[in-house]
Amino acid sequence: MHEVGIADVSGYVPAYRLDDYLTRETASSPDVSVPGPDEDAFTLMWESLTGLPRVEAEGPVLLRVPDSDIETRALVAHARSNGVLGEPAAVIPLAPDAGAPDLLALAARLAQPGLGLLVDHRRPAGAGAPATASAAAAVRFGPPRVARVAAVAARHTLTFDRWRTGPAPDQQDARFVEEALVAVEGDALLADLLKAAGRTTADLAGVVVTCGTRLRGARWAKRWEVPSVWQAGGGTGGPGASAAHALLTALDRLRAAGPDGAVAVLDLGWGGGGAVLTAGTDAAEKPAEPAASAARGTKAYGLAAWHGRATEAPGPWTSPAELWREMPALLGPTGYRCSDCGGIGFPRAGVCELCGSFEVADRPLRRTGVVATHSVDHLFDSSDPVQMVVVDLDGGGRFFGQAVRDVPRRLAVGDRVRLVLRRLHTASGLPHYFWKVDLDG
Ligand SMILES: [Zn+2]
Repeated sequence: MHEVGIADVSGYVPAYRLDDYLTRETASSPDVSVPGPDEDAFTLMWESLTGLPRVEAEGPVLLRVPDSDIETRALVAHARSNGVLGEPAAVIPLAPDAGAPDLLALAARLAQPGLGLLVDHRRPAGAGAPATASAAAAVRFGPPRVARVAAVAARHTLTFDRWRTGPAPDQQDARFVEEALVAVEGDALLADLLKAAGRTTADLAGVVVTCGTRLRGARWAKRWEVPSVWQAGGGTGGPGASAAHALLTALDRLRAAGPDGAVAVLDLGWGGGGAVLTAGTDAAEKPAEPAASAARGTKAYGLAAWHGRATEAPGPWTSPAELWREMPALLGPTGYRCSDCGGIGFPRAGVCELCGSFEVADRPLRRTGVVATHSVDHLFDSSDPVQMVVVDLDGGGRFFGQAVRDVPRRLAVGDRVRLVLRRLHTASGLPHYFWKVDLDG
């Protein structure tokens, strides 16, 4: 195997959790992270990308995005439009059921700098089906600053564990998964990985497992003689359901383990795939800290929002022609600057709003600023009154738009804020993205 490292990592875990009623109704864990009403697979991916250092040329982009209603090239085009993604040398989509080890194995085979993107985003299969966790992970492969991929392995065996492709089956045979899938295939896979990495279980800080059902971690830690066994994202969902969570958990635990740390990742189903990650060159300098967004206050989901009512626009508010014409500037965001009066405006226009001059040129706008004023809209059809905010952007220009739904409190005049990309609505079958206002930091 060629050596490949993870140079940078950025994760995003949405702040929403199910309220008490929905937790009971769907037999879900209250800890499961679910996307806000205006978050989808693309906005989760965008959030994870904003945490990576910006580069012009990405190398190959390895992308796993399940349950999205826009195609892979559209995802890449949207991310290119607002500058969070450099020019990819190639875009390589992975199957919707690919796990974190599949991404690491492909990166190891390619053995060149590139970008890996994993998005966990699934709506529940039915009314009473358990919620599966959502998150996004972005990693830049290259020099092993964060981690080394010390080994990858895969087993392809007929375990008949009742997993299927397609929508996540919500009823796994938990006893079969533990007795056969984890006990037999998990043991064998872990042994293969440790052999390939030249390590023993004594070297591991722990094992991250995804297997479609909740495990009793202490029991498996004892069996494998490792300090801990972790399950990412609540443990439920079908193949690949918690790939982003698994990768973020493994890298978090690796960081906590220090410069000699090693963590195994197992993704089990019809055999399985696995990887061993060892500490990167920056390990000693990095303090152990949880994933950035895990610390943020969470917000409970109400029933109306869960059913997606809030994101459906009632009429044909958009069209392919309108999106084609307006989206690149809106997503930039790109405004104008008037060379006669020096005014800066948004959105882009052919005439200066302030002095009427035609001497205007495109100008990229900053995405941070200060709240100038705001109001709360009680008439908009929403389960939660929407706050509308005017922002004086750093470097000039004013933005008017909605506050994000999961903002920890109502925004106030003078607050430092940033613009985040969210799905504004879906109309005529087309997703329409726009900026919303969130507290900065
Ligand atoms: Zn002007």
